[in-house]
Amino acid sequence: MAFQPQAPWEGRAYEAAVEARDSAHAPYSRFCVGAALVADGHVVRGMNLENRSFGATLCAERVAAAAAWSMGWRQWEGMAIAAEEAIVPCGICLQFLAEWAPDLPLLLINLADGTEQRRTVDEFLPYRFIGKRLIQ
Ligand SMILES: [Zn+2]
Repeated sequence: MAFQPQAPWEGRAYEAAVEARDSAHAPYSRFCVGAALVADGHVVRGMNLENRSFGATLCAERVAAAAAWSMGWRQWEGMAIAAEEAIVPCGICLQFLAEWAPDLPLLLINLADGTEQRRTVDEFLPYRFIGKRLIQ
């Protein structure tokens, strides 16, 4: 069944996430992920960028979020994430996104079976690091 958007931002983000996946640099895991963040009406792509020093690897979600931030686009509507299986953003990415958009809708695209899941950042990481003492 063809993808049926349930929010205005989802249609463009779905396509962009799938396309962004083709630009992933994943020679070590061979697990390519694409992300697309709709920010201030723009669609910002991200893809996982692996590094032979594994700790330097960037996930697709953080690439897209950092790119949007660098452009000054701070009104985030939603993010689509595409992979060859059902995935959830990693804890680092959820924490990263929660800094600015804990209620950000996430559209998780499973390209293998053509299904999607919808959740918010907060639903995946309700007990994230808040650090209230950092803000005085
Ligand atoms: Zn991640």
